[in-house]
Amino acid sequence: MRLLLFDIDGTLIQSNPVGRQVMQLALEHVIGSAGLIESYPFAGKTDRRIIFDLLTDIGISEEKILGFLPEVYAQMAKFGEKLFYQDGLSPCTGVIELISRLSHRNDTLLGLQTGNILPTAHLKLDAAGLDATSFLIGAYGSDSAKREELIPFALERATAMSGLIPHLVDVIVIGDTPSDIECAKANGVRSLAVATGSFSSETLAKYDPDFLLDDLSDTNAVIGFMLE
Ligand SMILES: [Mg+2]
Repeated sequence: MRLLLFDIDGTLIQSNPVGRQVMQLALEHVIGSAGLIESYPFAGKTDRRIIFDLLTDIGISEEKILGFLPEVYAQMAKFGEKLFYQDGLSPCTGVIELISRLSHRNDTLLGLQTGNILPTAHLKLDAAGLDATSFLIGAYGSDSAKREELIPFALERATAMSGLIPHLVDVIVIGDTPSDIECAKANGVRSLAVATGSFSSETLAKYDPDFLLDDLSDTNAVIGFMLE
């Protein structure tokens, strides 16, 4: 059984500034400021980490941020419910066919490993025309601020769901940033890097992923890599 853990932004769906806008509106609504969100580099980071960085930077204590978090997440879901659909999120090339093919196989288990919090992760997929229920398990930016800590959550949930303990060699993280490759390495699992986000294949190659593709459009080749 292969456990395939997909990143969302830049991997399953095309990067879009609406995610930043939704977080900005939620932070302004709950706290009155989103700090320096316009210049903050989001790629590869978890939402929890981004929120802590932005707010500690403007002098808010970690304890206070923890108190604000549930309401910030609730507001992100509320704004996302409107804006993700208005803004026309699109899947990356080949993704609809790939996920449809993989979800019909009985030798693969599909999951998410994403910096998005759970409610916005599912909303984004839905708004981009992907069926969130194809991903039977997930680890989210609401589970931990550190991306490398998401994989253990995903493995635990895969075991709870299937009754099987995944072998690390059977786990593949699919992502568009150096952080995805690094979090796979930190957990002893493999990575498939794809240059459909904000990093070129030349840059991604420097981080030494197990597989590297320009995009996920060649379904047979991608599945071949995944089952190799
Ligand atoms: Mg990404």
